Amino acid sequence: MSLTREIAKRRTFGIISHPDAGKTTLTEKLLMFGGAIQMAGAVKARKATRHATSDWMKIEQERGISVASSVMKFNYRDFEINLLDTPGHQDFSEDTYRVLTAVDSAMMVIDSAKGVEPQTEKLMEVCRMRNTPIVTFINKLDREGQEPLDLLTEIEEKLQIECTPLSWPIGMGKAFRGVYNLYKKELHLFTAGMETSDFETIRIDDLSDPKLDEILGHQADELRGDIELLEGAADPFDLDHFLAGSQTPVFFGSAINNFGVKELLDAFVELSPAPGPREAVERTVTPDEPDFSGFCFKIQANMDPAHRDRIAFFRICSGRFERGMSVRHHRIGKDIKIPNATIFMAQDRSHVEEAYAGDIIGIHNHGTIKIGDTFTTREPLKFTGIPNFAPELFRRVRLKDPMKRKQLHKGLVQLSEEGAVQIFKTLLTGDYILGAVGVLQFDVTVERLKTEYRVDADYVSTDFQVARWVTCEDEKKMAEFRRLFEMNLAEDGDGFLAYLAPSLWKLNYTIEQWPDVTFHKTREHI
Ligand code: GDP
Repeated sequence: MSLTREIAKRRTFGIISHPDAGKTTLTEKLLMFGGAIQMAGAVKARKATRHATSDWMKIEQERGISVASSVMKFNYRDFEINLLDTPGHQDFSEDTYRVLTAVDSAMMVIDSAKGVEPQTEKLMEVCRMRNTPIVTFINKLDREGQEPLDLLTEIEEKLQIECTPLSWPIGMGKAFRGVYNLYKKELHLFTAGMETSDFETIRIDDLSDPKLDEILGHQADELRGDIELLEGAADPFDLDHFLAGSQTPVFFGSAINNFGVKELLDAFVELSPAPGPREAVERTVTPDEPDFSGFCFKIQANMDPAHRDRIAFFRICSGRFERGMSVRHHRIGKDIKIPNATIFMAQDRSHVEEAYAGDIIGIHNHGTIKIGDTFTTREPLKFTGIPNFAPELFRRVRLKDPMKRKQLHKGLVQLSEEGAVQIFKTLLTGDYILGAVGVLQFDVTVERLKTEYRVDADYVSTDFQVARWVTCEDEKKMAEFRRLFEMNLAEDGDGFLAYLAPSLWKLNYTIEQWPDVTFHKTREHI
C-alpha cells in the first residue's frame, strides 16, 4: 500500500480533561470500539493503583502497564488510531504538556456539572500553541449538570474557542432521554443503566414530525425550542475553522453508559486530520516524504534502574520506519541501528516491523536520547515546537552529603534532559531549584537520584512561584537586569537564564518595569 494511503488512515490524538471528568472511562470505551477489550481492564487497573499511592517504588512496579499504555494504538473502521496518554492526577507532569506537541488533534472531555476546570484550561493553552483541532465531549449527562447552552458559553469564554454542537442533549440526570444528532438528523435514545452501543436510533428529518412528540412527550417541545435557539446562537460547523483550532464540534453523552461515544468516535475519525506537515528549523517536512524523520517527545525510565534503561518515544513525522533501520541521531552526529523499536498496540507491546508518519515508536537507550532529539535517514533536521514549559511548582534541593555535589549535578542534568523535572541553578548561591508542573515529580526526582545516582538528597520549599526565561537584545540592559535581580536569576539545565519570581504580581510588575527584557513562558529544546 502506498505511503500516502497509510498516512491518510492514521489519527494521532490525546485527551485533554481535568481529573475525574471521565478520561479513563472514555478511553476504555474507545478501546472497546477498537476491539482492544482486554486493555480496557488494564486502563482501569492502572488507575486504581495510581489512586492508591503516590509512592514512586510502587509506580515503578506498575511500569509494565504504564509504559504500554503511554500510547494505545487501535484500529477502528479503516482507521489506525494512536491514542497518546496525557497523564493526569498525581502523575500530571510536563510530559502531559509535551505529549500534546506530538498529536494531530485532541479530544476534550468536560464534566457537565463542573464545566471548564483548571487543568483543561492549561492543556488547552498548550493545544493553542499549535492550533490543534479539538473535538469536545460533554460527559455525565446521566447526572444533573449545568444547562448545555451555559456550558457552551463557558467553554467559549474561558477557552476562547467557538463551539458548534453536532449533537444536542434531551434533558439531563433522571430526565436524560438521549441526544439528537444535528448533522445526521437522528435521535439516539438513552436507557438508564444500560451499557450498550446499540442504542435505539430513529431518523427524524424534520423536528416538527409528530413522531417526536410520541417518543419524547413534553420534552419534544423543549428540544425544538433548544434547536431553534441554537440556530440563532451557534455558528454552523466549518471544517476549516475546526482544522485551524478556532472552532470545536461538541457532542454530549455519558461515557460510563457508553452513550454518545460511538457517535463521538465516528465524527472524530471523519473530521480530525491525518498526520500533517511539521515545522523543522530547516524547512517544513511533509508526512509523505519517503525519507524517515521523527522527534522524541517523551522519555520513560524503564523497570530496571540498575541498567539506566530508558524508552524514548518518537513521533514519526515523515516516511516509513522499518525494523533494523539505521537512522542518524543528529544532536550527537551518530548513525544508530534500531533493531528493537516498540510499537504500542493497545492489546500488547510488540516489536515494530514497520510504522508510518503519525505513528509512535519506542526506542530503548541508555540515556543518550534527549527530549527534542530528531532522527532521520537523510538530511539533518531539527523539529520545532517541543518546548520546555515554565514550571509552576518549585523546591530547593538539599544535598545530605556535600561530597556528592558533582554527582548531584550530573543526576539532575540527566533527569532534566529526560524531562523528569526542570532544574535551575541560582546565580547567587548555586543552589539547585527543581521546577515542575506536577507535585509528584519532586518525589520521583529524589528517589531516582538515590537509586540511579547514589545521591542522598531531599527538598524543601522555596519562595519562588513563577518562572520565565529571559532574553534581551540590549547587552547593557541585560547586564543591569542581571545585577539587580541576581537573587532571582538562575540557569536552567541547558544554561539558559530564567527569572524566578515570588509571585505572579511581582513578575507582572517586573515585566512592566523592564520593557526591553522579554519574558518567555516556554523555551524550545535545543
Ligand atoms: P478521569 O479522572 O478523567 O480519568 O475520570 P474517570 O474516567 O476515572 O471517571 C471519574 C469518575 O466519574 C468515576 O467514578 C467514573 O465512574 C465517573 N464517570 C465517568 N463517566 C461518567 C458518566 O458518564 N456518568 C457518571 N454518572 N459518572 C461517570
